[in-house]
Amino acid sequence: MSQKSSPFNQPLDVAFHAALHHLETLDSYPVGATVSLQEMRDKLQKPLIQEGMPADEVLRELVRDTYGGVLRNPGGRFFAWAIGGVVPEALGADWLTSTWDQNAALYATGPAAAVVEEVAGGWLKELLGIAESATFAFVSGCQMAHATCLASARHALLEERGWDVERKGLWGAQAIRVVTSNRHGSIDRALRLLGMGTDCVIDLPLNENEQAVPEELARILANDPGAPTVVLLQAGDLNTGSFDDYRALIPIAKRFGAWVQIDGAFGLWAGASPQYKHLLAGVGAADSWATDGHKWLNVPYDSGYAFVARPVAHRAAMSHRASYLVHDEDARDQIDYTPEWSRRARGFATYAAIRQFGRAGIAELVNGCCDHARALVEGLGQLPGADVAWKPRLNQGLVRFLNPAAGSNELDHDCFTDEVIQRVVRGGEAFFMGTSWRGRRAMRVSVLSWQTSNHDVERAIAAVRKALAASTKAP
Ligand SMILES: *Cc1c(COP(=O)(O)O)cnc(C)c1O
Repeated sequence: MSQKSSPFNQPLDVAFHAALHHLETLDSYPVGATVSLQEMRDKLQKPLIQEGMPADEVLRELVRDTYGGVLRNPGGRFFAWAIGGVVPEALGADWLTSTWDQNAALYATGPAAAVVEEVAGGWLKELLGIAESATFAFVSGCQMAHATCLASARHALLEERGWDVERKGLWGAQAIRVVTSNRHGSIDRALRLLGMGTDCVIDLPLNENEQAVPEELARILANDPGAPTVVLLQAGDLNTGSFDDYRALIPIAKRFGAWVQIDGAFGLWAGASPQYKHLLAGVGAADSWATDGHKWLNVPYDSGYAFVARPVAHRAAMSHRASYLVHDEDARDQIDYTPEWSRRARGFATYAAIRQFGRAGIAELVNGCCDHARALVEGLGQLPGADVAWKPRLNQGLVRFLNPAAGSNELDHDCFTDEVIQRVVRGGEAFFMGTSWRGRRAMRVSVLSWQTSNHDVERAIAAVRKALAASTKAP
């Protein structure tokens, strides 16, 4: 078929050039949105049309009408939440993933997709220091990785008590408790989806280093030693990037027969760096681990990974066999491990990202982000009125801005901090967000993009300096 007659030629050509323009101007355009909600609705809210539009016009219009409403988070000066960038090779593989349009449920529906996932899963275990015997699933993000891991935990804990949860459900089963600290909201949602509910959570007290206290864990577990229990520990908590002391905590959990699950959405990647992997000492003794590819590996959305040390529990929780499905007994069918049925072939982008970086490249990426986070927080800390609430030990820091007005109290500092953040975001040079930590407001500094450079750090500090000066002058 000649290029001219192909219906794909024009739309893909428009998409390619728009994508390239977007990627090549990340550095020079505002990082945040530049149009309001109303402006975006005015442009996008068109009546449902009766007849379709010419192919190239559809995409040109989409690019035009979303203009100013697309955050430039894959660039180097986006430090909000925990959102990574996109490495070129993974992006290319992601385009091919859509092009090939494989249904990555089974080997039969996408043979190459199944094998690529099988291989990339093995590489991930090697990189992150997880036992080769662990099973894994490529899922949409860390939340679904939690759901996958916790479903495996639920199976194992209840099966040990003679209850088949896959058949009988949770009604009538012994209640499972989840003992955890400082948890991310995605854990609550995973518990809700699994029918376990959030009332099953018991808070684990933290020490001044933001680590769960072993004596407290022992005390909580001893209160009801026979109860089926998940102990959910942090590997890189969302505000400070703190790691629990696995060598102290996991043996206690095991003594009480608990399942140990790790939330390592970005922090598990410390394991890929010789400089930071000591933070994860002992984490290999857990039963399951949840992490993301779309954060620190800089794979495009969406990409999360679940690992389970007990393959029988993982498969029991997820596997499905239907008479019309074709299972190749030798191949790895993803449906035996994932919560979804039809699904995107997420393995391609991860495979490409790992091939692009190599072990050394990933270690450099992790170290570089940590270096930039430290430089950023240090630089911000030197601005007038800045107060470093948490110095990065990994890639996360917290900075607070004190209201210079005489007689200001903590609440005034909270409001001032939020005002400075808003001003920085409106300025477009850098993008930060606030958080509540130990009852006070602070600006979160999260560095996860491969694009962040020393120059970006300088530009971001200058942008905050400017916003701080403007906020100080404001009435
Ligand atoms: C981002 C994050 C999650 C949730 O991950 P998703 O990929 O958004 O589902 C869970 N835990 C921590 C610590 C996170 O940073």
